[in-house]
Amino acid sequence: MEEEKVTGIPEIYGSLVFSDRVMKERLPKDVYRAVRETAKNGSHLKLDVANSVAAVMKNWALEKGATHFTHWFQPMTGLTAEKHDSFISPTGDGGVIMDFSGKELVKGEPDASSFPSGGLRATFEARGYTAWDPSSPAFIKDGTLYIPTAFASWGGEALDKKTPLLRSMQALSSSAVRVLKTLGDEEVKHVDTTVGAEQEYFLIDKDLYLKPTDLVMCGRTLIGAPAPKGQEMEDHYFGVLKPKVSEYMHDLDRELWKLGVPAKTKHNEVAPSQHELAPIFETANIAVDHNQLMMEMMKKVADKHNYACLLHEKPFEGINGSGKHNNWSIVTDYGKNLLDPGKDPISNTTFLVFLIAVVSAVDEYADLLRTSVATAGNDHRLGANEAPPAVISMFVGDELEAVLKAIDSGDTSELQKISKQKMEMGASVLPHITRDTTDRNRTSPFAFTGNKFEFRMPGSSLSVADPNIVLNTAVAEELDRIYEDIKDIDGENKDAEIMAVLRKYLDAHKKVVFNGNGYTDEWIAEAEKRGLDNLKSLPDAMPRLISDKSVKLFTSHHVFTESELNSRYEIFLENYAKTIHIESLTMQEMVRKDFISGMVKYEEALSSEVVQKKKVIPDLDSALEEKIIRKLDKAGAKILDQLDRLEKDTRQAEGESDVLKDAQYYHTVVLEDMTALRATVDCAEKLIPDEYLDYPTYAELLFSLR
Ligand code: ADP
Ligand code: MG
Repeated sequence: MEEEKVTGIPEIYGSLVFSDRVMKERLPKDVYRAVRETAKNGSHLKLDVANSVAAVMKNWALEKGATHFTHWFQPMTGLTAEKHDSFISPTGDGGVIMDFSGKELVKGEPDASSFPSGGLRATFEARGYTAWDPSSPAFIKDGTLYIPTAFASWGGEALDKKTPLLRSMQALSSSAVRVLKTLGDEEVKHVDTTVGAEQEYFLIDKDLYLKPTDLVMCGRTLIGAPAPKGQEMEDHYFGVLKPKVSEYMHDLDRELWKLGVPAKTKHNEVAPSQHELAPIFETANIAVDHNQLMMEMMKKVADKHNYACLLHEKPFEGINGSGKHNNWSIVTDYGKNLLDPGKDPISNTTFLVFLIAVVSAVDEYADLLRTSVATAGNDHRLGANEAPPAVISMFVGDELEAVLKAIDSGDTSELQKISKQKMEMGASVLPHITRDTTDRNRTSPFAFTGNKFEFRMPGSSLSVADPNIVLNTAVAEELDRIYEDIKDIDGENKDAEIMAVLRKYLDAHKKVVFNGNGYTDEWIAEAEKRGLDNLKSLPDAMPRLISDKSVKLFTSHHVFTESELNSRYEIFLENYAKTIHIESLTMQEMVRKDFISGMVKYEEALSSEVVQKKKVIPDLDSALEEKIIRKLDKAGAKILDQLDRLEKDTRQAEGESDVLKDAQYYHTVVLEDMTALRATVDCAEKLIPDEYLDYPTYAELLFSLR
């Protein structure tokens, strides 16, 4: 990590970022303007402009000590990828100069054959290309200049998460602008999606992390009995930060600030050793890049502090897993948040149109939102005994509920009366919607929180691009439909007629609104009655991604082509099967090597104890030891059986070529085998003293941080 020469936070903040401020300072005016234009509208960047930017960028990077540059992209692994090139260019006389051209800035040609492509890229054209995304700032990390890029095949098909995200933002912008213009906004040119991704994570001791193979190979524990204490005392959430953990968090903040990542809020989370970091929201594609950097830095800084940072959705059985709350809103280019209800929501037609568009989008495309957060890891949260459930519903709070009711009944007079009274009394109209009144329901997967929506289903390791692609596109679609219905409305009764249109949408989609407790069985039953989907696992959900409805949505908004969708469908299913395959192999090895050998050693010790005792006192009753041995023997036999079955079933999966069937098999057979085996192993573990087992106990893993 770079040495700081400055100590004040404002000086540190963004010190390693080729930010708008730096560009303004250093680029010739016309070049700066051209780059801004490209960033905003995606207009073509001329080569001489690119050359000029590259030269300035290189000099800035050299001043900061960089020797290399890399195109930084986000392939379908969900992680980031980079390939570093140095700036050196031989001068022919044995020397070098530091060189960086506009062409190198704008386009890269990494060999793409080893990234997941879901059949999009034939091997004869294995090269892909990366293209500079000037809307996300370049930065320096570990002596390298990082240039955020999109990644595509030679045919132009997206092989990454950034390309469709940018396309979806574009789609939402054009749909929103059209609607806003109809509603009388003459100022608006484009709208941006804003995202704030709250990130949950676990910190554990690095030495303990390195001991068992499951955490290293799979990011989660595959065996391990619960500790005597879990999260039942509710003493960790917002609890006092332990001094060393606090040092880690400070260090993390500073590293993120240098990179221009606006880390803001940090606190302990519900589970022991679980924490959260929330940034200040930004434009969606920057927020996505920054969330990737945040996850990377969490791990790097942890290593420095002798911790391991776990970003798996469910590292420990029996205690809360980790999510990533996606706070989302829409803002105009002149800074108006379109989801801000203001003081008088019922008269705020613009707000109501956008609110109803979101309600309709979430209901109409709930299954696609569900697919966007589906991973093998997240399956352990959604639909399991944890927040939030796999059913997508929407919480709007009491105030908005009253507003929706008024729209629905067509009788806004009640609300208007209150509004008038309050106005006469000089007070604000409806109790102004604050976080306190909207954020009470923590059980809802999709909640209105004052002036934005919070989607709580994403898992902690997910690229937050995925849900935002769906959200942007679905809302764009609903806005288009509403536009068709309101574009010809004019005259005195305009607002009332628009309200009548909104009523139609609300009627069709209000079934998704639910303000009660989303964790209860009653809700799941009620949701089924309402016809809401309950897609419990990735293999259940994924076929929806390639349904006719999905293809129509994404192709009509130019976010995905049909083949891009098909490729993603394949990649997600394959990734799911591979993840469980690796987990199965890891578990087999751990049970055999770490568990059974420990159990046998303990049994040996017990047996020789019995023999020893009987030598000294022949008629001594060794019932206790014998009882334990018998219990262990019984468990051991069962474990061997279950292990055999897991091994056999896993081997059987290897022949399956249909990706969906394969994933289903892993879900219904292999994962079930693993669950059964784990139950027996964890039960037997309780009989064996810690020193016989090679892997740390849950108590050590979760409660050893200082
Ligand atoms: P919490 O959800 O923990 O109560 P807050 O509601 O204060 O916390 O904020 C959560 C996240 O929402 C933060 O990352 C914040 O920056 C983000 N956020 C706030 N306003 C917006 C907005 N208009 N668009 C997107 N994200 C936002
Ligand atoms: Mg939140």
